[in-house]
Amino acid sequence: MRDIHHFIGGQTLAGASGRFGDVMDPNTGQVQARVQLATIDEVDRAVQSAQAAFEGWASTNPQRRARVMFEFKRVVEARMDELAHLLSSEHGKVIADSKGDLQRGLEVIEFACGIPHALKGEYTQGAGPGIDVYSMRQPLGVVAGITPFNFPGMIPMWMFGVAIAVGNTFVLKPSERDPSVPVRLAELMLEAGVPEGVLNVVHGDKVAVDALLTHPQVHAVSFVGSSDIAHYVYRLGAEHGKRVQAMGGAKNHGIVLPDADMDQVIRDLTGAAYGSAGERCMALPVVVPVGQKTADDLRERLVEEIPSLKVGVSTDADAHYGPVVTAAHKARVEGWIARGVEEGAELIVDGRGFSLQGHEQGFFIGPSLFDQVKPTMESYREEIFGPVLQIVRAESFEAALALPSQHQYGYGVAIFTRSGSAARDFAARVNVGMVGINVPIPVPVAYHTFGGWKRSAFGDINQHGMEGVRFWTKTKTVTARWPDSALEHADSSFVIPTMR
Ligand code: NAD
Repeated sequence: MRDIHHFIGGQTLAGASGRFGDVMDPNTGQVQARVQLATIDEVDRAVQSAQAAFEGWASTNPQRRARVMFEFKRVVEARMDELAHLLSSEHGKVIADSKGDLQRGLEVIEFACGIPHALKGEYTQGAGPGIDVYSMRQPLGVVAGITPFNFPGMIPMWMFGVAIAVGNTFVLKPSERDPSVPVRLAELMLEAGVPEGVLNVVHGDKVAVDALLTHPQVHAVSFVGSSDIAHYVYRLGAEHGKRVQAMGGAKNHGIVLPDADMDQVIRDLTGAAYGSAGERCMALPVVVPVGQKTADDLRERLVEEIPSLKVGVSTDADAHYGPVVTAAHKARVEGWIARGVEEGAELIVDGRGFSLQGHEQGFFIGPSLFDQVKPTMESYREEIFGPVLQIVRAESFEAALALPSQHQYGYGVAIFTRSGSAARDFAARVNVGMVGINVPIPVPVAYHTFGGWKRSAFGDINQHGMEGVRFWTKTKTVTARWPDSALEHADSSFVIPTMR
């Protein structure tokens, strides 16, 4: 059995906990490797390695740090096929989607290549007599990232790309379900020229997460995962004096107005609801047609379209999506389908019991479609995170607007319409963090920022773009006056200085 080790101080480190997690091949349902689960001491080793590298890296000038990012982008691109296959083999998403996962991460690396510009401070000359004021952004020190299984390429790069470019050193605790790509990325950062210890990877579970959140030398933690854990991470990290951003789960709605381009809507919806087997925080698992006619039309077309979706192994170039990540996750998604039926929703297409010939033990689920889903149902209120699309009918624009606005999650939302004024009004009033207008998965480009509202995110600074630079740095402001014989000596002042 292959073991997946920690990567600390530029070296592979075999863990000593004697505890392991199974890494599955979701296509076959077989265990393909085991990943070590770190002890508190091993987490401390990673932090000490990052601490030892900090001073040198923080004082490396920003152009040199940016050059490492340029080179990292090149080496990842050169190994795109290898990385995408590795990613798919543990996650189960199809190869083209794994390339997309890595590519979205590289877009944040491209942003990080421009870090000298983003790090420029502010300067005011003559803020008072002979006084200049300037501010600078400085790295925090050792910082950490804790990532979910569903984007093992993109999300680690969101975090360490910006954090390392601004001068921090990093400890990554990736998902134990698909840990190999994060380790390869750390090896490639080393190959790209980052010094040993700047990027460390420790594998693990709650023991490792808690050790990072309570470690006195870790200054900031970025987390992405499910909401209950995000909330826990936010509270524990904040209690230990850390800066924390903790992104959680989602239930994104697609609002379809009667004037929408329905052909395009069907294409967008099937891709966004079923792509990656629905295991995306920015998937679109709820569709809200406005008016009876729109709803009936939408339902009919979805029922026609869904049988053309091909579920296959992740290496099948024709497959639209592959298996879900584990048997437990498959059971959970199927449990939500059963719950929807119990609650009285109408299951029009049932993806349970799907079996792929030759891969009967794989974690495959066919596409499912519900109609007559009501806002009071638990299967609507909670995240399913599988290939399940729920139709929630709305009588009016206002009723449709209220659904995502009142939902506990507030990650993304999309509206499909030809009306500029309706879309504009919707974007301004909806109580959700990221809005798509005729764009089903409104993940902002890397130089804007990514973040949700309500139970989708705890903490107040978003991922990547300038918000990422703010999260991973602290601002220092200097007020300076130099002795100058042309200026009269100032008297002692016993009151707070003001600029009159
Ligand atoms: P998860 O919450 O199970 O795991 C995320 C991380 O937390 C992993 O590294 C895991 O090891 C760790 N963890 C798990 N249980 C823990 C515990 N009890 N204490 C401390 N740490 C623990 O999430 P997941 O299943 O890997 O990922 C899917 C979830 O992530 C979905 O809810 C999805 O919506 C969310 N997600 C959100 C975003 C976003 O940007 N908001 C992006 C991707 C995924």
